[in-house]
Amino acid sequence: MKSLTDSVTVLNGVGPKKQEALFDLDIHTVFDLLTYFPFRYEDFAPKNIHEIADQQTVTIKGEIAAEPTVQFYGRRKSRLTVRLLVGHDVIPVTFFNQTWLKKQLETGQEVLVHGKFNTASKALTGMKLMKPSDEKNFSAIYSVNSKITQKTLRQIIQQAFDEYYDVIDDFVPKWVINKFRLESFRTVIHDMHFPKDRNEVKAALRTAKFNEFFLFQMQMQTLKTNNHKDPHARVMADKLTLMPFIEGLPYALTNAQDRVVNEILADLHRPYAMNRLLQGDVGSGKTVVAAIAILATILSGKQAVMLAPTEILAEQHANGLAKLFEGTNVNVALLTGDTPASARKQLLPRIKDGSINLIIGTHALFQDKVKYKDLGLAVIDEQHRFGVNQRRKMREKGKATNVLSMTATPIPRTLSITAYGEMDVSVIDELPGGRKPIKTTWIKNSQTKTMLNFLHKHLKNHEQAYVVVPLIEESEVMDMRNVTETYEKFQQYFGNEFKVGLMHGKLNDDEKNKVMQDFKDNQTQILVSTTVVEVGVDVSNASVMVIFDADHFGLAQLHQLRGRVGRGSQQSYCILIADPKNEVGIKRMNVMSSSTDGFFISQKDLELRGPGDVLGKQQSGLPSFHVGDPIADLNILSAAQDVAKQVTDNDNWKKLDENQELVKHLTTLNDNTSFD
Ligand code: ADP
Ligand code: MG
Repeated sequence: MKSLTDSVTVLNGVGPKKQEALFDLDIHTVFDLLTYFPFRYEDFAPKNIHEIADQQTVTIKGEIAAEPTVQFYGRRKSRLTVRLLVGHDVIPVTFFNQTWLKKQLETGQEVLVHGKFNTASKALTGMKLMKPSDEKNFSAIYSVNSKITQKTLRQIIQQAFDEYYDVIDDFVPKWVINKFRLESFRTVIHDMHFPKDRNEVKAALRTAKFNEFFLFQMQMQTLKTNNHKDPHARVMADKLTLMPFIEGLPYALTNAQDRVVNEILADLHRPYAMNRLLQGDVGSGKTVVAAIAILATILSGKQAVMLAPTEILAEQHANGLAKLFEGTNVNVALLTGDTPASARKQLLPRIKDGSINLIIGTHALFQDKVKYKDLGLAVIDEQHRFGVNQRRKMREKGKATNVLSMTATPIPRTLSITAYGEMDVSVIDELPGGRKPIKTTWIKNSQTKTMLNFLHKHLKNHEQAYVVVPLIEESEVMDMRNVTETYEKFQQYFGNEFKVGLMHGKLNDDEKNKVMQDFKDNQTQILVSTTVVEVGVDVSNASVMVIFDADHFGLAQLHQLRGRVGRGSQQSYCILIADPKNEVGIKRMNVMSSSTDGFFISQKDLELRGPGDVLGKQQSGLPSFHVGDPIADLNILSAAQDVAKQVTDNDNWKKLDENQELVKHLTTLNDNTSFD
């Protein structure tokens, strides 16, 4: 029985030499060979000479108007020129060092010439001469190495296609093919390698991309379910049990919070350890969602931990949650590096015997001495502040511990589907009641006066403002504004009426706290600052954010900075001041002016900067795809993920008839690929 998983060596004419060449191209099986798609195509269809761009490589068709002339020059160099009548134009065509063509060029004969066109001289440098009867107008160009030629590779592919034609079956289930109007796998393979024209390639490529993403997503989904199956992960408390707590909250959950709570509870009910990433802008209310998951866990007789990156944040969570859980049987303890040894000594045994069931803390919780009775849930706040290994260590503190990671940094869809593909993702895309979207304007440096007037009006109205300047002192080299200089200018301009504060990285912690407290207490109305204000600052009376040299910041950072305002009920504004010198800078300003959607912005950031910069050093890059581009083809990628989820949602998916080809395919893929 023939199968696409057959080794390429079964093909006639593929001996050890060619096998080696193919292996070097990562082609091992017939499937690999048939999906080794061309990286570009050559178009030999004749073009209208009036529609050709300068230096474009094209084919033109014409009649030989006169006998060719040949000139010799230099040592052994020659130039053959022939005049071609194309419509009403006479086009000189020059072939270099190909005198032998002369006898193929008879006056009055119709020919096709492939070459480079020069619009100024209306002349063509010929590369290839063809007879009109040469039937193939459009052909595939493969990426090859020195061990194999285009021609040989094309022949081997043609041969494989002919021989395996009847075993090229669809691995994408029929209902998916119908739903997305995909082409059959057979058509895709045919049209990618042997297309009639560009349109056929385009259509085939759409399905080829889907197929590639779909297989990747199926692997991700099966990885997820296979790896963590363990009934011990199950948390039985359901929404009904939790209702008294939810209804007792001082506010109603937003729709987004409610949806995410449902997603998490559904995860907790499954016999798989949860590995979920909860994304939501600052202030979207992630803590209460975590609290509900914690309560569900504790009501099932298990323990929970909540991990925060700083002492301050841990303490804030401990206080907040203790209050929220008043009247329940949740016993909260705080354990950080600051916890005194004596208190610590008392806490550890109570964590171990389970009498404390919610532990909140920092890195101190990673220590081996901290042992749990039955750790059912680990909540990791600001997850990006922890390394992959730390997160794993937390999981290993219990048996099939469920993990809920939280982040306020929007992760672009492309990355959450690929680089973070092993996690499920929940998004809170709605802020609690009454907050108005921030209005953003981009102005030039020459319009600073307008900004000052605008600012004055709002300060008069008892509102406050941030003024952000990139970098500090040493930055003159880069021709950027100095924060102290800006501070002095604002002081000069507004000093009679309002107080101005100055914040930058060179201040010590006490000084920073003082500056921040003054701004919070409205002792200062304007805060001139470097990007120090980016994280963790919450002053709801501040309504204007002015950012100087805004094009020097990345989109993600601009979004974070802008998020410092818009936290109260009044309308807030962001004024970007920039004279961008390049395309990227202009695009950034346009994206910021047109959107407040963190996910849209982060996706644009990814497009403008590339995945390496967005992910940071410690995280591995995007998986590589042959035909699909996870950034440009995000829509196809998302659709493929949805479908893969739908398929695997059915516990019996591997047994269904419609999935048999798929199962077969995945099995062989898993044998050949490693996940690292
Ligand atoms: P973050 O997602 O940044 O961690 P928090 O959980 O700290 O946000 O919530 C921010 C504030 O919003 C808190 O004061 C919280 O009590 C409040 N909050 C959370 N959910 C709601 C809601 N549904 N309605 C009103 N206020 C809410
Ligand atoms: Mg938070």
